[in-house]
Amino acid sequence: MKPTQTEIEEAATRLAGAEAADILRWAIERFGRRLAIASSFSIEDCVAIDIAHAVDPGVRVFALDTGRLPDETYMTAERVRAKYGTEIEWQFPDREAVEHLERTKGLYSFRDSLDERHECCGIRKVVPLGRALADLGAWVTGLRREQSVTRTDTPEIEWDAEHGGIAKINPVITWTAGQVRSYALERRVPIHPLHERGYPSIGCAPCTRAVAPGDHPRAGRWWWENPENKECGLHPVR
Ligand code: SF4
Repeated sequence: MKPTQTEIEEAATRLAGAEAADILRWAIERFGRRLAIASSFSIEDCVAIDIAHAVDPGVRVFALDTGRLPDETYMTAERVRAKYGTEIEWQFPDREAVEHLERTKGLYSFRDSLDERHECCGIRKVVPLGRALADLGAWVTGLRREQSVTRTDTPEIEWDAEHGGIAKINPVITWTAGQVRSYALERRVPIHPLHERGYPSIGCAPCTRAVAPGDHPRAGRWWWENPENKECGLHPVR
């Protein structure tokens, strides 16, 4: 059964500041197989998988194969699949939409303007995400507040009206990058190799680059755009 907004807001109040495992335990008990973790195979997402897997080894994981991911993402996905014995529910974009985009605008139209970039993210990410969430009552992310100016007031549990009125669970939202890394090392969580090469944030290969020490963690995402635009439509700008 889908949650009500009141139920989610009450849970958000009750579990504000709770441990990530307690947040996930509540969510898994409440939603069961109608909960899934959305993973880009960043270190945060893999830590969320590890915590959730300890609560329920059958927890579902899905990922968006945009067609433009770096090979390191696929390698990390395979390590996650092997370590946890979890099927990765890959979601592909609509074939005809991608073919039309690439035939009419070429392979790098996203560099031409914000609208063109949103069109590509819409086809390759937003629509497939909507399909992945259609049968769910809750989804789990590895978002952290310090990642972006658009995430500074994101709560642990929120009402996701944009995806039909479901719960969005952000169990590591308050964690620092150091906490995430310590947890991953201690628990031998698969770590995306690009993190070691200066990529704090993982996305599509042509839209993500390494950042300099001290730069904002998402400075390497769509680096030609302003900071307030650095979302792909998967997570709303607040
Ligand atoms: S991140 Fe870049 S390549 Fe990936 S969907 Fe968005 S615009 Fe397209």
